[in-house]
Amino acid sequence: MGQINRREFLGILGAATASVALGSQPVLGQKEAKSCVIIGSGFAGLAAGFKLKTAGWDVTILEARSRVGGRVFSYSLPQNPKLICELGAEWVGESHERLKALCHDFKIGLQKHQFDDYLMQNGTISRPSEWSFSPQAKAALDQMIAGYGKLSTLEKNQLDRLDWWTQLEKIGFTPNDLRIRDLMDSTDFGESIREVSAFAALAEYAESSPKNEMDYKMTGGNSRLVNEFADRIGRENIRLGAKVSEIRQSKGIVTVKAGDDVFRADACICTAPVASLRKIKFDPPLPPAQAAAAERLGYARIIKNSVLYDERFWNAENFSMVSDTTSHYYFHSTQGQPDKQGILTAYAIGDKADVLASQSDERRMALITRDLVDFDVNAPKLARGIASYAWQRDEYTEGAYAIYRPGQWFGLRPILARPHGKVLFAGEHLADWQGFMEGAIETGEASAAALLK
Ligand SMILES: Cc1cc2nc3c(=O)[nH]c(=O)nc-3n(C[C@H](O)[C@H](O)[C@H](O)COP(=O)(O)OP(=O)(O)OC[C@H]3O[C@@H](n4cnc5c(N)ncnc54)[C@H](O)[C@@H]3O)c2cc1C
Repeated sequence: MGQINRREFLGILGAATASVALGSQPVLGQKEAKSCVIIGSGFAGLAAGFKLKTAGWDVTILEARSRVGGRVFSYSLPQNPKLICELGAEWVGESHERLKALCHDFKIGLQKHQFDDYLMQNGTISRPSEWSFSPQAKAALDQMIAGYGKLSTLEKNQLDRLDWWTQLEKIGFTPNDLRIRDLMDSTDFGESIREVSAFAALAEYAESSPKNEMDYKMTGGNSRLVNEFADRIGRENIRLGAKVSEIRQSKGIVTVKAGDDVFRADACICTAPVASLRKIKFDPPLPPAQAAAAERLGYARIIKNSVLYDERFWNAENFSMVSDTTSHYYFHSTQGQPDKQGILTAYAIGDKADVLASQSDERRMALITRDLVDFDVNAPKLARGIASYAWQRDEYTEGAYAIYRPGQWFGLRPILARPHGKVLFAGEHLADWQGFMEGAIETGEASAAALLK
């Protein structure tokens, strides 16, 4: 791979996908292939479906849930239907070019969604200007990010074998720097940075530097893009409640079974998250290395808890607070949505997410608002309702997004991305922008492009 960056790496995978799927399987017939069954109506499936449909293909999307959008899920609490929060994907990054272009084409506004973080440690609150990392930690991280583009393949693989915490410790982070960094970065990866490949972490921060991919959200909710895609593909082409259980390939035709229904097509794009992929029966079976890779890839535990308050006691529109409490990270979800009431979302990861997930709504709201009393003693009294979603308990993803543990970025991802005959794979977990809407779209479009070649 030489000096390639993370983005170019997926480009190479995409090219490999095309040549394996079409080159070695001429029966796909290139120009004759006109029908595709797509598994999943998240952004990967919708982006693939839209591209193929625009090119004149017959597209059928099979979606197990009773709604479209997968992990993009805008929501309003019944107590105030005017206010919108996101129980799935939240931020659109400045570097997310495809997402921004689609929003532009479909006339969806992007509104500012940036924050200035307060820090709460042991009940002491520091304003955004009152805390920082040590000068040596800042300098060492800047240097590592600046050197990212020059890393050799060997160095990238060495980094991939380490976890992010160990790497930061190696370059001089103090114990308190590490604790704060863990609180902050674990909201990006969904688990402690002791669990995350140092290469995957560095790549994410270096590729988005100097921004952090937390720039905008879609006006009216991120589900607007879901609906625009679905309307253009045609709702009649999207089957809800269609959980795929089998994919067979024989004599150049792919047969996909969902419940009692059977769908036949020239090709299939499977965007099922790995927990779901593992439950699908393939005939012929997936190669042993690919099946083993699917067994090993894990997903992060994240719970989002959007609490409606009668007053916006946090005052600043761009309020957010990283904390060492169970509630972990608070941010103002209704920035740019004027109202007396407002929503603060508590975003917790890992074991904290499991603790909150086991509580009733009432107890969870009590815990989350109690964690805020050092910031404002009135927080519990002002809370009016809560909407929570624990992604680790979601039947179809068993987590929020894939987490590449040490050694897995280069060890698993390329294997999982390999096409299986006429079945191509797409989804967030295979993307350069892994863990992002942009990545889902990128891989969906790349699969469709491979079929169109
Ligand atoms: C809590 C959380 C926070 C996030 N924050 C951000 C953020 O701030 N910014 C950002 O860009 N991204 C964020 N993401 C990530 C983003 O949501 C995902 O990367 C993206 O939406 C994934 O799209 P996908 O199409 O790959 O998968 P999905 O959206 O999961 O779509 C896959 C679809 O396949 C369906 N399916 C599964 N199995 C079957 C089956 N057997 N048969 C039929 N259908 C099946 C599922 O129901 C699902 O609808 C966040 C995600 C979560 C959960």
